[in-house]
Amino acid sequence: MVKKCPQCKNDMGSVKFDIGYGIEVASLHCKKCGFNITDEKAMNAALALLRKQMTKEIKIINVGTGLGIRFPNEIVKNFKLKRGEEMLVKPEIDGLKIMPILKTNDSKESII
Ligand SMILES: [Zn+2]
Repeated sequence: MVKKCPQCKNDMGSVKFDIGYGIEVASLHCKKCGFNITDEKAMNAALALLRKQMTKEIKIINVGTGLGIRFPNEIVKNFKLKRGEEMLVKPEIDGLKIMPILKTNDSKESII
């Protein structure tokens, strides 16, 4: 059964798109207007798999007189981490969360 596009009523075709790490999500795509329909469950499952793939064990290392962590290269690339960049470390129930500091205009503002 062919599904019709809710926008232009054209026939929709099945496509798969890569969300990273070779993880593909099945989706319906309208060639005429570019409208996409992705099953929410399929998308959430793919995102959960992506997060699992990106979860890496890291080691605490010496940095000068203090301690630091070395980020795996794929994390550096995916999150566009840069040397000297300031991050926010937030305690969570099950660990620490490292987040970018959101910048508005020229002043730095945390998102807490
Ligand atoms: Zn369409």
